[in-house]
Amino acid sequence: MSLANRNAIVTGSTSGIGLAYARALAREGVNVVINGFGDAGAIERERTGIENEFKVKCLYDGADMSKPAEIAAMVKNAEARLGSVDILINNAGIQFVSPIEDFPVEKWDQIIAINLSSAFHTMRAAVSGMKARKWGRIINTASAHSLVASPFKSAYVSAKHGIAGLTKTVALELATFGVTVNCISPGYVWTPLVEKQIPDTMKARNMTREQVMNDVLLTAQPTKQFVTVEQVAALAIYLCSDNAAQITGANISMDGGWTAA
Ligand code: NAD
Repeated sequence: MSLANRNAIVTGSTSGIGLAYARALAREGVNVVINGFGDAGAIERERTGIENEFKVKCLYDGADMSKPAEIAAMVKNAEARLGSVDILINNAGIQFVSPIEDFPVEKWDQIIAINLSSAFHTMRAAVSGMKARKWGRIINTASAHSLVASPFKSAYVSAKHGIAGLTKTVALELATFGVTVNCISPGYVWTPLVEKQIPDTMKARNMTREQVMNDVLLTAQPTKQFVTVEQVAALAIYLCSDNAAQITGANISMDGGWTAA
């Protein structure tokens, strides 16, 4: 069955991977709620662009994923305005890098809230409707860091390992209700966030752009290539399809071989 006329929420979808998920869902005829921060004019252009290009409804909800009450309200509003939330993609995330002894406590709290707890709050609010309708797809953007660690990323690695466990738990709870719950675990994905780091790293390390990409960013990735946002989004569309109905509780890597090493 096609995904047309299903309704989705994608958290953290004003840029990068989240925006690619939202556009890929809309291309399949899914109405989408986009969420995240950014310039109001740019978000509005993105929203109307999705509506005009794909002939679906696209709503914007600016809920802060570190605020449980705003998250619950976002799910409620989506159900009220679209009629249901059939597909939920938990994707909002931030990063902070520091040795643990200097890691700011508020950064730890913020990363755990946005990268992990927000998925608990969205799922808690959205699963009753999915169970009642006997169909749902929940996809959590984890990371290679849900499987392996890197130094100085204590909060991020903890949150991503946490979301892998949360995914498995909710998958088991929903297994007989036609609702699948999975993680996608990308390695380095070419997003504005990654691209912005390159000029500074070139200066700091006196390296060429090529050297920064291969010797700094892609050291962990055996293919020596970035994952693209379109590749991640295509996997999400597959996970939403009927062919993926028996994939649940899985943590699917898309990391150029990183976690095979
Ligand atoms: P990005 O910075 O381009 O996008 C992050 C999105 O989250 C933005 O829309 C931002 O506005 C939103 N966001 C941040 N804080 C928020 C908050 N408090 N409330 C609501 N929205 C908020 O980053 P990205 O690279 O597209 O990352 C998306 C997800 O993919 C994250 O969970 C990240 O951990 C994960 N990931 C990224 C990579 C990568 O290499 N880029 C690799 C593995 C996993």
